[in-house]
Amino acid sequence: MNSEGRIREMNGRIDLHTHSTISDGTYTPAELVRYGKKKGLRAIALTDHDRIDGIEEAQMVGEEVGVEVIPGVELSADFSKGAMHLLGLFIDRTSPSFLRRLAVFQAARRERNPKIVQRLQEMGFKITEEEVAAAAGGRPPGRPHFARVLMEKGYVHSITEAFERYIGDGKPAYVKKPQPSPEVCIALIHEANGIAVLAHPNTIHLTDRKLSALFERLVKAGLDGVEVYYSTHTPEETVRYERLADEWNLLKTGGSDFHGEHKPQIDLGVGKGNLRVSYALLDALRERRENKTA
Ligand code: AMP
Ligand code: ZN
Ligand code: FE
Ligand code: FE
Repeated sequence: MNSEGRIREMNGRIDLHTHSTISDGTYTPAELVRYGKKKGLRAIALTDHDRIDGIEEAQMVGEEVGVEVIPGVELSADFSKGAMHLLGLFIDRTSPSFLRRLAVFQAARRERNPKIVQRLQEMGFKITEEEVAAAAGGRPPGRPHFARVLMEKGYVHSITEAFERYIGDGKPAYVKKPQPSPEVCIALIHEANGIAVLAHPNTIHLTDRKLSALFERLVKAGLDGVEVYYSTHTPEETVRYERLADEWNLLKTGGSDFHGEHKPQIDLGVGKGNLRVSYALLDALRERRENKTA
């Protein structure tokens, strides 16, 4: 390890992108935090899709075991290409207006889900809404729950295969749900006193020129940071996003996007094995947030 690496390790490691059973992960918020402790993490952000009701439990367990829990959320934004997701970090989980907006996003998911079931049925799969709901433990299902049912019924060998063949973006059983623009997502996160971060820029699939234009647009809308360190970023992509973050004076964040058994190849804190996110990044986030609200 070089000296910079040693300094990073000394600060402790963190994971600022995780999912629990509150959305489409397979660990409860409490289990997630305890697992973070076991993995030696100093801080975890819980960033469930459209939901913030796991945060209280995660923070309680965090205090008990000595892991800092950052209240977060992940929103899906409308964009012409790929998947654009925005993370809200340090959000106020009690903000009534934010909770009302999240309820709208959850409703969009509920409306979409029967349409996915219908498509799958038309393709000849024996799958029901009830089975998908059961896989999600009664909460609004996300696509990984559909994938899980398809796998358990033997239609696919893995969750990845379910996405690649049937329910991934643009695949035959994919149904798009109405999503707010990135500008609206950023404004909502700010209204809830959060820091707005562009998640996993590699899933938007843009050329250098188009990615620069997108950064210009998002920075104008108030974007605060970019998820530079991520489980599926190649070393080249990481360098590319580090440079963009510096160019646009954005904070750098990092996380695994841990989903438990729904993404079995991704582990908490370390991603596919070589992810390392330093606590120093969290200090920088906090500093920027304090300056903004001061
Ligand atoms: P939804 O919000 O219900 O549309 O589902 C999105 C979720 O599906 C996200 O958490 C992604 O992590 C997951 N997902 C999207 N594409 C894939 C893929 N190719 N393999 C595994 N999970 C995926
Ligand atoms: Zn997810
Ligand atoms: Fe995401
Ligand atoms: Fe995620």
